[in-house]
Amino acid sequence: MSQSQPTQNQSDLDPLANIIRSMVNPLPEDVVTVKKAFTFALRAHQGHERLSGEPYLKHLSETALILAELGAGGPTIAAGLLHDTIEDVGVKREEIVSEFGEEVAFLVDGVTKLGHLKYKGVNRHNESLRKLFVAMSEDIRVLLIKLADRLHNMRTLSHVPKEKQKRIAAETLEIYAPIAYRLGIRKINRELEDLSFPYVYPKEYEEMRKMLKERHSDRVESLEKFSHSVQKALAKEGLTKAKTEYRVKGLYSLYKKYLRYDKDLEKIYDVSAMRILVDSIADCYRVLGVIHGRWRPLPRRIKDYIAFPKPNGYQALHTTIFIGDGNIVEVQIKTHEMYRYSEYGIASHLYYKENGRNKNVLAWVYALLPKSKKANGTGTVKSKDVPKWISELATYEEPSQNQRLFRERLTSDFFSQRIFVFSPKGDVVDLPIDSTPIDFAYSIHSDIGDRMTGSKVNGKLVSLDTKLHNGDIVFIMTSESAKPNRKWLEMTKTSMARRHIRHQLGKLRKPDRA
Ligand code: MN
Repeated sequence: MSQSQPTQNQSDLDPLANIIRSMVNPLPEDVVTVKKAFTFALRAHQGHERLSGEPYLKHLSETALILAELGAGGPTIAAGLLHDTIEDVGVKREEIVSEFGEEVAFLVDGVTKLGHLKYKGVNRHNESLRKLFVAMSEDIRVLLIKLADRLHNMRTLSHVPKEKQKRIAAETLEIYAPIAYRLGIRKINRELEDLSFPYVYPKEYEEMRKMLKERHSDRVESLEKFSHSVQKALAKEGLTKAKTEYRVKGLYSLYKKYLRYDKDLEKIYDVSAMRILVDSIADCYRVLGVIHGRWRPLPRRIKDYIAFPKPNGYQALHTTIFIGDGNIVEVQIKTHEMYRYSEYGIASHLYYKENGRNKNVLAWVYALLPKSKKANGTGTVKSKDVPKWISELATYEEPSQNQRLFRERLTSDFFSQRIFVFSPKGDVVDLPIDSTPIDFAYSIHSDIGDRMTGSKVNGKLVSLDTKLHNGDIVFIMTSESAKPNRKWLEMTKTSMARRHIRHQLGKLRKPDRA
């Protein structure tokens, strides 16, 4: 839902205490690490200011706070505090290693590297960039830190020079928000979208805002009254512990739905929604009974996602009711646990995982898998939306029995052994590590491989046995008369390239034998 968090004022008072208070079941050593990182960041960024004029530490503690609220563990929150030390104030990686260990340094490093990836503003490149972003992060915690960093940057975007605002907001809308969505972190996804919307589509934003105001000026007031009546009705039935919250739909998601529904606001029933949180599944059905006993539901709008969860694992009871003053409200009834999952998706798993005895971080990555029932938060992930490396992971087994083996296999097979490179048009190709321009050429098309004469990587001419790296832009030169060379067989990593080369070499040899 789209209420903003009431954390801003709190954290002004004592940011460190606030971060620690927001951590979910922290271990004592987690708290120690976070405190130490805070002090380190305070010293490293001494005198360093944001464009807003605020001390830079504010940005770091806000980033850490967002991570703590996501349920992240000590190392992740510490890395959140340290995420700009290498790039912005010249702290050496070795210093972070010696102070905080390899794990935290790895996370800070990862965030720094991701910072070098830039949105190019070309729509057809966006999916490639998203894939590269996920691939380069190597560890899902790096992505979470980057998302928290971007969220705070978006909250303070008004201080950034005008000419930069639109680029940053567009990058947020096209790259970061969809990644948050795929990780199932609806809470961050929504906030990123709503913060970007006015910068990227100012006209449409204004239109939506006006339209919503004209038709529903009294919505919040009406919801407030309704919420009060619901509380009373529930209490009468002994449901005193039920928590109610309401919201008016976020403007950007409303805008997207508005486009999908032929620009007819009347067809959208969840502009106003109320969420009722209870302790047990039995209570969910009791609440539904109370609501329907008191207010008239719209026909065919009653959904039992508890008995029949959505394919992405989302669970709740939904009903849409006339609340008596002419307004219609969608009511979502769920347990606290269902709510946490719907808001935090994968991150809601790390809440258990990272704080458990064995911090099995890669198990979250497993949760990205489309086949996993609880995998994708509240969003429907179409299989074409899933990067190839994720769908490849789907063939692996559930990491229940042999966590360590699973983890090793995952690490060696995917994160450390795949690279993602670009074609000059921005298409992404994923290859095994140590692949060369020859592998790249054959993965584009066998004709391109067969006719290859040379290659440029990031604009520079390179030899054909050059090893490619994540993010390289590879250009292949061809000529009609060119032929594969036997030596190429030793310069390739992919069996596909070798197969094509052998095939061509065989064809070339035949005339000699004849
Ligand atoms: Mn930052």
